[in-house]
Amino acid sequence: MNEIAAISLEQLPYSAAASAFLARKPQLFIDGAWVDSSHGKTIPVEDPSSGKEVARIADASDTDIDHAVAAARAAFDDARWSGLPPISRERMINRLADLIEANAAELAELEAIDNGKPRTMAQAGDIPMAVAHLRYMAGWSGKVGGEVMSPYAMPAGAVLNYTVKEPVGVCAQIVPWNFPLMMACQKIAPALAAGCTLVLKPAEQTSLTTLRLADLVAEAGIPAGVVNIVTGLGETAGARLVEHPDVDKVAFTGSTEIGKLINRNATGTLKRVTLELGGKSPLIIMPDADPAVVGKNAASAIFMNSGQVCIAGSRLYAHRSIFDRVIEGLAAATASTWVPRPSLDPLARMGPLVSREQFDRVTGYIEAGRKAGASVAIGGDAPSAGGHYVNPTVLVDVDPEMSVVREEIFGPVLVAQRFDDIDDVARQANDTCFGLGASIWTNDLSLMHKLASRIKSGTVWGNCHMMLDSALPFGGFKQSGIGRELAREGIEAYLETKTVIVKL
Ligand code: ADP
Repeated sequence: MNEIAAISLEQLPYSAAASAFLARKPQLFIDGAWVDSSHGKTIPVEDPSSGKEVARIADASDTDIDHAVAAARAAFDDARWSGLPPISRERMINRLADLIEANAAELAELEAIDNGKPRTMAQAGDIPMAVAHLRYMAGWSGKVGGEVMSPYAMPAGAVLNYTVKEPVGVCAQIVPWNFPLMMACQKIAPALAAGCTLVLKPAEQTSLTTLRLADLVAEAGIPAGVVNIVTGLGETAGARLVEHPDVDKVAFTGSTEIGKLINRNATGTLKRVTLELGGKSPLIIMPDADPAVVGKNAASAIFMNSGQVCIAGSRLYAHRSIFDRVIEGLAAATASTWVPRPSLDPLARMGPLVSREQFDRVTGYIEAGRKAGASVAIGGDAPSAGGHYVNPTVLVDVDPEMSVVREEIFGPVLVAQRFDDIDDVARQANDTCFGLGASIWTNDLSLMHKLASRIKSGTVWGNCHMMLDSALPFGGFKQSGIGRELAREGIEAYLETKTVIVKL
């Protein structure tokens, strides 16, 4: 604790480029132009490292959302994007990726100011991943197609049957605040490659980098109306987008609670819906694992991005014989690395939480865990500061019914439990309504694969956690989502299959 007290939690000064961006007029990017919101309302932007307001963004009205959807509809219906040769779409998506790389330093700083994540992490992780998602999907522009198929009950030679893949249409894309630019690119990349047009709404807490992205979309030469970026509140702007009759598909990343609501609200016109939702991902540590190595990795799996990650390793199950040594390894890694600092501090590995609301939620869970009988093995408190810092926390002596074990906390809070054998840990790991990720730590590869087949989750990692790649499908079992993003499945979610049957 003394070490933590010695670190200054004062945010560092902003660059001239970031300050100039923060001073911009709050506007929406619709039909290739920056426009004022119809009612002039704005939302404050806060730096979570200081708790201070640093800018304002537009709060889109229903009229603004209708305007954005109309622009996307017109751009889709006149085929100004889907009608281009795929090589042109691929080139423009790659140009957008080039521009993100060219502006990486400014984007990383804005992300750190807006979200609270360390600038170094944004620069090394968020920005390169955003670029990779765009480049990977750019390549699919010219590689999706249908097939010629033989009939089954119709006479061969009397018909010609084939399928064609067509863009699904106008997409509403709603993203959360934990990886703002990366999530935006993860969403727009497959839509653009498929030939769709879109209206993207970033989270109201973190819209800055997505607004800067709009400048780059225009600079990349992507035609007006293809990408529209609207800032605003979820319950108003987001809800209007989801219900809009001219929207053909909704792609959402966020909480399971809002995902369920969106799924219900999108049924009016039977929109296509893909959902990337919450998780409570287990780390399963077998007796042969090295406790120091696993402890270090377990700390990264829960404390990276202050635990505000849908695939955070938030439940740890270590074999009884190794449990205490894993907790020691975790404590050593936490003390040496995961100490909260302001996001622009070059030494920061972990920043504050995104908002006061999130701070209250996370500290509320820690308190609820304590009251229910959990013991605090590491952390459990928050440094006093203007920003929303919470110290990395590990709770032990928990039982499976506690809210800290069952619910997604979305903060730097790990619950650690013991297990006795494979059946026991498979049952405990699956005892959740979520199914996003899980990791298994052992050198016994046979055991690794056997256990992987028993875990009900969209991704299973072996001796690593949280690894993602643009070419590998990502999504959830159970209440962690519907559909897959990234990879081939990611672009297929933006395509319709048309069957053509011609009697010869
Ligand atoms: P969190 O709980 O982590 O803030 P949410 O799931 O509430 O995450 O928010 C994720 C995204 O969903 C944000 O862009 C938010 O504005 C949006 N959103 C919230 N409520 C709704 C809603 N009722 N309809 C559409 N979008 C919403």
